[in-house]
Amino acid sequence: MARYTGAVCKLCRREASKLYLKGKRCYSDKCAMERKAYPPGHHGRARGRKVSPYGIQLREKQKAKRIYGVLEKQFRNYFAKADRQKGVTGENLLQFLERRLDNIVFRCGFAPSRKSARQFVLHRHFTVDNQVVNIPSFSVRPGEVVQVREKSRNIGIINMAIQQHGRKDQLSWLNVDKDTYSGTLLETPKREDIPTPLEEHLIIELYSK
Ligand code: SF4
Repeated sequence: MARYTGAVCKLCRREASKLYLKGKRCYSDKCAMERKAYPPGHHGRARGRKVSPYGIQLREKQKAKRIYGVLEKQFRNYFAKADRQKGVTGENLLQFLERRLDNIVFRCGFAPSRKSARQFVLHRHFTVDNQVVNIPSFSVRPGEVVQVREKSRNIGIINMAIQQHGRKDQLSWLNVDKDTYSGTLLETPKREDIPTPLEEHLIIELYSK
């Protein structure tokens, strides 16, 4: 299973926005976007770069991929599925990404970042409706319950993430029960209930060329 293994903070700097890819560090002074908020590379600080409409669309697509930790081929597959489905393609695309198991684990507050959520899933720490699932891209359906396995409930990072996951982070389409280490996807989220700062219409425009 392919995944990005390079420096993650560079991704935020490239997109000129905090993508919160590292968990706790993202909220501290150590965040690279606090210290050097300019694009990486030798010419990163060069001024006056004009970005074409294509460039703007490309950056938005890259940003989405990076937020959800998905590589190009898989992302394109999500777009193709979203395009085939009834409704607004941009909203469908985000719904597919949000229903990924690693994302649900992160949204429920069982992991500090999507990257660690992916790792936990791969290491078989989660069940979906009482079945162990170790596929980060597994698509969770409304009504399904994602739960930390009993033998994994003493893992420090999971417990710390649960403690730090505040009320403000809770989403109307997820029901999280900290006592039973479980989260239920109540419904497929609507666009206005997905707190991801993306202009998905730019991605659709890019892929529709
Ligand atoms: Fe991005 Fe987090 Fe790195 Fe800051 S610390 S640049 S938000 S990944």
